[in-house]
Order: sequence, then structure tokens, then C-alpha cells
Amino acid sequence: MKEKKVYATIIGGGEAGMICACTAAEKSKDNKILILEKADRIGKKLLVTGNGKCNLTNLNSSSNNYHGKGCENLINILYQKYNPQYILKFFENNGLITASDIKGRVYPISKYAGSVLDVLRYALNKNHVEIECDCNIERINKTKWGFEINYNDTIVKTKKLIIATGGKFDYKGAESGSCDIINMLNFKKTQLSPALSPIYVKSNIIHQLKGIRMSAKVTLKKDGKEIKSEYGEVQFTNNALSGICIFNLSRYANKTDDCIVSVQFLPEMSYNEIFSMLKNRIKLFNKDNISDIFIGMFRKNLAKAIINSCKINENKNTADLTDNEIKALAKVLYSWDFKTTVKSDFKNAQVTAGGVYLNEIDKITFESKKHKDLYIIGEALDIDADCGGYNLQFAFASGMKVGENL
Ligand SMILES: Cc1cc2nc3c(=O)[nH]c(=O)nc-3n(C[C@H](O)[C@H](O)[C@H](O)COP(=O)(O)OP(=O)(O)OC[C@H]3O[C@@H](n4cnc5c(N)ncnc54)[C@H](O)[C@@H]3O)c2cc1C
Repeated sequence: MKEKKVYATIIGGGEAGMICACTAAEKSKDNKILILEKADRIGKKLLVTGNGKCNLTNLNSSSNNYHGKGCENLINILYQKYNPQYILKFFENNGLITASDIKGRVYPISKYAGSVLDVLRYALNKNHVEIECDCNIERINKTKWGFEINYNDTIVKTKKLIIATGGKFDYKGAESGSCDIINMLNFKKTQLSPALSPIYVKSNIIHQLKGIRMSAKVTLKKDGKEIKSEYGEVQFTNNALSGICIFNLSRYANKTDDCIVSVQFLPEMSYNEIFSMLKNRIKLFNKDNISDIFIGMFRKNLAKAIINSCKINENKNTADLTDNEIKALAKVLYSWDFKTTVKSDFKNAQVTAGGVYLNEIDKITFESKKHKDLYIIGEALDIDADCGGYNLQFAFASGMKVGENL
């Protein structure tokens, strides 16, 4: 059995763990900092973020973008200092050049997530952080001096211990090992569910919409009551609705059964206005095929699916449409309702909603209330965020906060 002694050990070489290690090592050059990572390399998930472009933060980040019991206070305090500008300063000081879009989303100018990982690796190397991959952590014991961690025939004695093991699943949908560590240390965690995922729906029509992208207002409802609504581009797949606006509804849809997603392609119009518009277009396309009333409005396959969803014969002439058929079309255009089915799995989700209860930690220092000198950061905590760079912002901010103050 090999033995080693270090000042601080970070379990998990994701974004929170890497930046925590860099800042801790930078702050105190004499302290040995070690990362123990289960996978064969650190930062693997980072490479797939933002569709490979890595949306590393959002300039408009505020507590409104975050979810988790008690997170508002924690975020407000944390972002007084560890806000997007502070995080970007760290990256800039280590060579990363970034640019933001009109929604405040920040990307490396290379539009290549590898650039962000390169910078983190460079900073880890420069600050002599020791990294061990393929680690199978078997035991963690509290000692008088700190902690003893057993892994791969090795015992490491460490004064400080940081848990940065992320969500329940890795980016490929395999169990990450995060829960093993949380259970080993007896932390209470909330129920875990997938978030930022497509929403699967029950519909005979949805397959006809596959590949269509359309701007819309989307509203998630349960028992007729609105849970949340968003505007954005909806992407239709074979059996699901997708796109950023849908991702932002998914954390609610994945927690409960029998919801409805209403899609409004013309959200600025009332039902009566849509009905009158259809009447006018029927006059305009008098005696033409029914699908012609959607010329200049929708793509042909979307028009066809709308007609089919109203069970109207698609060969019908506009002149033969009944009032009830026009009402049915107006209803779908006003609000097209899709029933949700199976909850999304973690495989298609970007983050885990839920994690270690926030009342297990001090909300200012992230130190565990149960174990002194132990800290929990990043997605392992019961905090998840909307789509748009807010999740990485939190991983980096919590990592830097703990790293700078170890
Ligand atoms: C496809 C995809 C795209 C995304 N795009 C964005 C985006 O553009 N912007 C954004 O803000 N967020 C995005 N996210 C979310 C973001 O990646 C996460 O919120 C963030 O990675 C969380 O960082 P973390 O360090 O807490 O956890 P992770 O990055 O998950 O890191 C945890 C690390 O701990 C390791 N680990 C787990 N268990 C153990 C164990 N037992 N022993 C040792 N090591 C262990 C894991 O292998 C992993 O390396 C995306 C996520 C996905 C999946």
C-alpha cells in the first residue's frame, strides 16, 4: 500500500474541481494539491458543453436562473465576488479570449470547448497540481489530522477534502460515481431527476414534424394550471420536443406525470384573431387545396401535420371547409397541446436536478456542517440552472470560492 500526504484533495476533475485546484495551488504555492478523478482523463464533460463550443458563463447570471431549495441566498452571496466578470478574469489571466452574444452567453472566440480545457490544464500544470485518473475510491475516514482516502492500493492523508463529483450521471449517461462518494460521507441528498433535456410527448402526429424548427411560445401545464412558459426555437424530433426553451421546462416536466406542453406559433394573436385570419386566408386561396392557406406562413410538412392533427382530409378544397374544421385549425394554431409521456432519462439530460441538501453546508464557505475541513462544490449540490452558461458559471464560482479560501 502506497502512502502520500497532501494539503488538499479534490475528488472529481470536472469544471468545479479543476478550477478549485488551480486557485488553491495559485494562492499557496507550498501546499500540495491533488485531484482524484474516476475517469481516464479530467474535464471530459467540458468538451461536449455548448455543442462543443462551451458556453462557459452568462453575463446576466442572477439567482433567478438557479433552482434548488435555499439556493437564492447562496447564489446572491457567492456572486457578490465570484460573478461572471470574476470568472472571466481568471480565464483571461490564463490566456483564454472570449466573446459574448446578445443574450450574455460567453464562448471562447475559437468556438471550441477544447480551448477552455487547454487553459485549465495549463493552469493546473503551471501550479504543479497533481492529478490521478482511473481512481476507484474505496473508503474515506475522518482522522485527527484531516482525512484518509483509500484508492487503488494507495492511502492519501489530506488536511482538506473537496467533493466535486458532479451530477448522478456522466455526459454519456453512465453512473458517474458521485452518489457513491456522497453516500460514503453520509450526506443527505434530495431526489435526483434529469434536467435540461427534451420532453417526450404522446402524439400520433409528432413523427410528421421531425426535423422542423419553429419559433414559438411554449407553456408547461398541469391540471390546466401554468407551471412555466418560455419563448424560443422549438425543435421537433420523432417523439419529443427539444430546443433551449423546452430544456428550461424539462426540470418541471421530468418531476411530475401527465403534463401538457402547449406550443403557440402565433403567441401575439388571440384565438378570435387567428380564426378571422384563417377566414381571410380561405378567401385569398379560394377553391385551392386546404394546405395552400398556410403558404408563406409555415413549411409544407408543418402545414400538413396541422391539417392531419385536426383530422381534416388533406385533399379538401378550401371552399369546402366547415366552420368546425376552421375552428379546429384555429385552436391548433392558437395552442397546440402535447401530452407528456415517459420522463426523460439522464442520458439525454445536461444536468442533474437535486443533490446534497444545501442545509448540509455553510452557505457562505461551502464547508460541510457535519465534517470540518470538507467542502462540497458544483453540481453535486442541490443546485441546477437554466440553459445558457449558468451551470458552468456556478461550477466555476463555487470552485474558485473554495479554492481561494482553503
Ligand atoms: C451535453 C452537455 C452540454 C452542456 N453544456 C453546457 C453549457 O454550454 N453551459 C453550461 O453552463 N453548462 C453546460 N452543461 C452542464 C455542465 O457541464 C455541468 O453543470 C458542469 O459540468 C458541472 O460541473 P462539475 O464540476 O460540478 O461536475 P462534472 O463536470 O460532472 O465533474 C464531476 C467529475 O467528478 C468525477 N467523479 C464522479 N464520481 C467520482 C468518484 N467516485 N471518484 C472520482 N471522481 C468522480 C467525474 O468523472 C467528473 O469528472 C452541459 C452538460 C452536458 C452533459
